[in-house]
Amino acid sequence: MTIKVAINGYGNLGRAVERAVNAADDMEAVAVFTRRDPQSLKTAGTPVFPLSQMADFKGKVDVCICCGGSATDLRTQGPAAVAYFNTVDSFDTHADIPAYFADMDAAAKKAGHTALISTGWDPGLFSIARTLTEAVLPDGYTHTFWGRGVSQGHSDAIRRIEGVEGAVQYTVPNPEAMRAVESGEHPQLTTADKHTRLCYVVAASGADKERITREIKEMPKYFADYETTVNFISAEELARDHAGMPHGGEVIRVGHTREGIKHLARFQLQLDSNPDFTGSMVAASARALVRLHEHGHRGAASVLDIPPAWYSPSSPQQLRAQLL
Ligand code: NDP
Repeated sequence: MTIKVAINGYGNLGRAVERAVNAADDMEAVAVFTRRDPQSLKTAGTPVFPLSQMADFKGKVDVCICCGGSATDLRTQGPAAVAYFNTVDSFDTHADIPAYFADMDAAAKKAGHTALISTGWDPGLFSIARTLTEAVLPDGYTHTFWGRGVSQGHSDAIRRIEGVEGAVQYTVPNPEAMRAVESGEHPQLTTADKHTRLCYVVAASGADKERITREIKEMPKYFADYETTVNFISAEELARDHAGMPHGGEVIRVGHTREGIKHLARFQLQLDSNPDFTGSMVAASARALVRLHEHGHRGAASVLDIPPAWYSPSSPQQLRAQLL
């Protein structure tokens, strides 16, 4: 069976999802939905439709992958799409995941659909690494470090501020905090202790830079708790020095199975392109979602509710022979 995929929103992630779907033998991209003029988008071949035509595709799409930003798009985009389709998204505002799950669960159950939320690498693969290592080493502690890399969610949040024409945000890990975690001494570290946030912003001509800086630094959940540096640069500098979107990070679990017997489990990612990798994970999640739906699940689910084999195009027999 070929999985028919619709892509809702065509930014960095939407483009990466299209590439990943086109590269998969068992998937086909049948539509891109956009809020912009469809004529203005150049896809890799997938036909583009205005968002208002989404309802016409009910029954013709196995999964709709919602690629809007977490800051302002997905809280409304997700429930609207799941009324017509099974959905996958990469909602990554960690603090709001329980509320988003509840919204998606209610909307999906009402429509008889299935919604796999918050896939990607964090949340996503890192969530799986945290859960597994905590289960295996219950007497211990976990720390997650991100970066150095561009956070699309944080860059997206800055770009929504009035007077901002472009922005990139680097999350930078604190090496001293990482050494403290590895030592096994159970350091008490907040996310803000472990990272700093470095922002490069292009302001519109005449925009109030002090207000923009204040709005960034005071933005709850995204920047307010961190040591945040804001640098204003030109559009040329942004294009020349900050065009790539590398990212990565690691989940570290340190635990003991007996007095004096210490273990360190580490799951690390080094990504040349955050959207490419996230798009690949989201496409694999679309395959898993279809199986979750076939198994009768209705409502929302997270990556933690999915058997790992369901992400793979290989059969259980192949997986047992090659990867077990
Ligand atoms: P973008 O800002 O590139 O795109 C977000 C939306 O904005 C698009 O869906 C698109 O909607 C619209 N858009 C894109 N480009 C333009 C443009 N030039 N002009 C006007 N509108 C535009 O965000 P990303 O694709 O980089 O990231 C999407 C989200 O992915 C992030 O907010 C984050 O939440 C999530 N993410 C999750 C990760 C994880 O590990 N879980 C990792 C990385 C990202 P439309 O076509 O309808 O206009």
